[in-house]
Amino acid sequence: MYKIAVLPGDGIGPEVVNEALKVLNAIERKYGVDFETAIYPFGGIAIDKTGDPYPAETQEACLKSDAVLLGAVGGPKWDALPGSKRPEAGLLALRKSLNVYANLRPAILYEPLKNASPLKAEIVGDGLDVLVVRELTGGIYFGTRGREKTDTGYKAYDTEIYSTEEIKRIAKVAFDAAMKRKKKVTSVDKANILESSRLWRETVEEVAKDYPEVTLEHMYVDNASMQLIKNPRQFDVIVTSNMFGDILSDEASMLTGSIGMLPSASLRDDRVGLYEPVHGSAPDIAGTKKANPLATILSVAMMLRYSFDMEDAARDIEDAVLSVLKKGYRTQDIMQDGMILVNTVEMGDLVVEEIRG
Ligand code: NAD
Repeated sequence: MYKIAVLPGDGIGPEVVNEALKVLNAIERKYGVDFETAIYPFGGIAIDKTGDPYPAETQEACLKSDAVLLGAVGGPKWDALPGSKRPEAGLLALRKSLNVYANLRPAILYEPLKNASPLKAEIVGDGLDVLVVRELTGGIYFGTRGREKTDTGYKAYDTEIYSTEEIKRIAKVAFDAAMKRKKKVTSVDKANILESSRLWRETVEEVAKDYPEVTLEHMYVDNASMQLIKNPRQFDVIVTSNMFGDILSDEASMLTGSIGMLPSASLRDDRVGLYEPVHGSAPDIAGTKKANPLATILSVAMMLRYSFDMEDAARDIEDAVLSVLKKGYRTQDIMQDGMILVNTVEMGDLVVEEIRG
């Protein structure tokens, strides 16, 4: 029995997490499995209760779980607090405590929503499905940095550092993911200039030898940022460093045009994972039932795929979402002329009905 710590958080977080739990429940019944879920305070609501965005009780539960499902945190109520006391500080502490080094961000543009993409119809075709695998705990965001005084002002530096081990483990995540998809990995680097990128490239090539079925290509990051706009359908899995991934995953997600649809996963070696929608707590629509729960529901699909190895159940959820969209149901953020407007709860119910069949 898998243990899931559920952290609904603030704003629309609890609303979208509720719908995701309904979907998880439908999967339990259909597949005859049992997940042990328990809800813990996190973010602003935890600050109100305990003064800490990531209280000890929540931390202990997360560290004992097989997966963590997070809604979103933050809101105007806590905006005036100093940085280290804000709900968002809890996010960093959570990621750090779980030691999740691989961030998986799929940018999926479902065919019924293809008009939402800022790209032309002929580029988007029948939709997009790109998975960005970003290294999350190394590279320039964690390397030595500093500032020195000079005669005219200052000079400052940050250091990009990657070890063979760090590159190997993220490459494996990318190749494993590709094996469950279209079996293509594009490794993005700047090996024409950076030594760390040259080690990255060599190491990815070594790992590739264990995955003969997967096609590997290398691409410089400047070219990759162009190719994502010019011909995004050439990509299946993109694997890259922390900083390049930070930028490219946002670029890729914007190709889909709808933040309410984007799930994410952060994993470590034993496949314990943190699953959360890409969006924030959307205080502007909290409590109005306007939130789109699909990003969180799709995060549950990722949980089943990557932490619990339940590929069929994951596909079941993704197919159910596609089916609901094909039938014309839309929350307000993805509403188009001629479609049927539904609220957060109705959208969750529709996905559950599809899963039940
Ligand atoms: P946001 O993602 O919360 O909202 C941006 C816009 O997108 C808003 O107009 C919102 O209504 C809309 N939106 C977001 N999710 C939606 C959904 N599921 N359905 C429909 N519409 C949706 O970003 P923001 O406004 O910059 O931040 C609001 C708060 O969330 C801040 O406190 C911020 O720090 C926090 N935040 C938290 C996380 C997280 O918990 N991982 C991520 C980003 C921002």
